[in-house]
Amino acid sequence: MLPAFLLGLTALLGLAVGSFLNVVIYRVPRDESLVRPGSHCPHCGSAVRNRHNVPVVGWLVLRGRCADCAAPISARYPLVEAGTAALFVAVAARFGYSWELPAYLYLAAVAVALAAIDIDLMRLPDKIVLPSYAVAPLLLLPAVIAEHSWDAALRGLAAAALLFAGYFVLAVLPKGMGFGDVKLAPLLGFYLGWLGWGSVAVGAFAGFLLGGVAGAVLLVARAATGKTRIPFGPYMLAGAFLAVFAAAPIADWYLNFLLPPTV
Ligand SMILES: [Zn+2]
Repeated sequence: MLPAFLLGLTALLGLAVGSFLNVVIYRVPRDESLVRPGSHCPHCGSAVRNRHNVPVVGWLVLRGRCADCAAPISARYPLVEAGTAALFVAVAARFGYSWELPAYLYLAAVAVALAAIDIDLMRLPDKIVLPSYAVAPLLLLPAVIAEHSWDAALRGLAAAALLFAGYFVLAVLPKGMGFGDVKLAPLLGFYLGWLGWGSVAVGAFAGFLLGGVAGAVLLVARAATGKTRIPFGPYMLAGAFLAVFAAAPIADWYLNFLLPPTV
């Protein structure tokens, strides 16, 4: 476990990354540059002042309104920043000082961006998913070299192939899932496979369970009909992180449930 001050630094890093992810979430699906122009109010076009660009605090100081035209600024911005910081701290606490830590922090950042874009637009942009096929193995390469984690790397590749095949079959079925989900599957398979087959099983199953529960809740609440399409990416990502943090206890609980220990 990392000392508290390093977890604090990770939280600050998460806030800064979350602030950048807000730009990614808005601009990547619109094919806009991530650097130019600087942040501006979409309503009146005025540039956001530096002091108002501070993650979470800026939004609170402005009380969620543009400093120039008072147009409301979505609470999603500070939520993305705070959520990224919380996920970063959890990942740092989970992996501690390890070669894997940067790779899983990268996954956390990608997960926040993809979940938000999928909720907004029902898309998981190739521009984020496909480069990650290269970034994730590169970030885990130091672990392979330093710790000879060849078995973890090979298991990751095997799990990537397995989840890709599974999701591909589900996508070609009638009323199947989207191909964005199919392309996300091997990335999550690689990360979960690196941790172990138990993580792959728990992560994939949890994604369907969470997505199914959410779909049922929406149907009951009449917020959706049988024809409403629900973005599945956020549930795949949430399921994967559930497995990253808690695969072992969940697998134990499940096995106990199936095969209760005889008293
Ligand atoms: Zn404005």
